[in-house]
Amino acid sequence: MPIDTTHDPALRSWVDSANASDSDFPVQNLPFGVFLRGGAPRLGVAIGDRILDLVAARDAGCLEGITADLASALGAPRLNALFALGRPALCSLRGRLSALLRADTPEGARAQREPSLLVDRVGATLQLPTVIGDYTDFYASIDHATNVGSMFRPDNPLLPNYKHLPIGYHGRASSVVVSGTDVRRPHGQTSAAPAGPPSWGPSARMDYELEVGAIIGTGNTLGSRIPLAEAEAHIAGLVLVNDWSARDLQTWEYQPLGPFLAKNFATSISPWVVTLDALEPFRVPRRARAAEDPALLPYLVHESDVARGAFGITLEVWLRSAHMRAAGVPAVRLSQGEFARMYWTLAQMVAHHSSNGCDLRPGDLLASGTVSGPTRDARGCLLELAWRGTEPVALPGGEQRSFLADGDEVIVRGWCEATGRRRIGFGECRGTVLAAQA
Ligand code: CA
Repeated sequence: MPIDTTHDPALRSWVDSANASDSDFPVQNLPFGVFLRGGAPRLGVAIGDRILDLVAARDAGCLEGITADLASALGAPRLNALFALGRPALCSLRGRLSALLRADTPEGARAQREPSLLVDRVGATLQLPTVIGDYTDFYASIDHATNVGSMFRPDNPLLPNYKHLPIGYHGRASSVVVSGTDVRRPHGQTSAAPAGPPSWGPSARMDYELEVGAIIGTGNTLGSRIPLAEAEAHIAGLVLVNDWSARDLQTWEYQPLGPFLAKNFATSISPWVVTLDALEPFRVPRRARAAEDPALLPYLVHESDVARGAFGITLEVWLRSAHMRAAGVPAVRLSQGEFARMYWTLAQMVAHHSSNGCDLRPGDLLASGTVSGPTRDARGCLLELAWRGTEPVALPGGEQRSFLADGDEVIVRGWCEATGRRRIGFGECRGTVLAAQA
């Protein structure tokens, strides 16, 4: 979609809290999510510190004239049906919601008189936004791949395929949880010696990974391919992701087939899906490939992907230990990274994923892989930040971390800023580490 009146930085909402300059959810954002009302899941839109109940808005006649498909999809318990309708439908709904929540429109004036349209966002019980049928995790940050690779292969950190295709693996959809869900430290096999023998017990090297996830909108049929030029038409929006990882399990199990139990015990995502339409003002050129990098195969090249395939999203990881919580010490920032530095774009991931005819379905989650940068403060996981335990991270109060401790709360945040544009945010993706089962 083009930049239109819904992105106008001058727009104000009749929901006052949405007009605060530091709000993640101004009227220019309009992210979709699922919350509980009367014990049942409802589709909603975050606006300031409130949620617009889409069913209530529809039933109050505030969205008259939308298509029957849209009206029906708004009544579903998850966003799959809405996202399956595709980007043009989402874009048209965005226009209606913008008018509904603006302070200067007849629709807004009418909506203000409907008391049931809004619920408080703080305190609301949020759900996973979609039924996630499949979850794929990529490895798209060359900074992350170089850092991790150099720990194991100092002379040759990147494997020969890295610059030719977006590396990924199939994750586990059943253990994707919404922000705020506690995550229990897993048990598993670990081995101090590379050749074994292993022992079994709680992971001693639990980690987070700072990532961005794409939620698939319209899918593709099995056997068909999604061309790169059309890939973004299949992405409904983006969420924040924390790919919890057990490094000691991973080290022992990952060869030759890649991550398995080290990754599939939990993956946290933020509850609000920020649409690609909302992100339109924050598009930036794809990271330039170095002159010595190999030429890409044609199916991974398109001029619009080069010119505007990346998104200017700033990402942060914060941590608050149980000790800090007890002492009333606020969370401390561990790192800050830029999503635009990724070596591969989301569109390339979608095109490559379907290049063999694999079908993507509405609601699927495609995560980017750990977002890291070239400096220490941009390393997106503790494995890198504490450099495999050799450079522990100091916390307020004298604690140190090489990996996560029980009681640690990890908070991922993300937002977009650009000159002449209204800042929009993703909210947060939180999770606290629980002690392993006895
Ligand atoms: Ca990951």
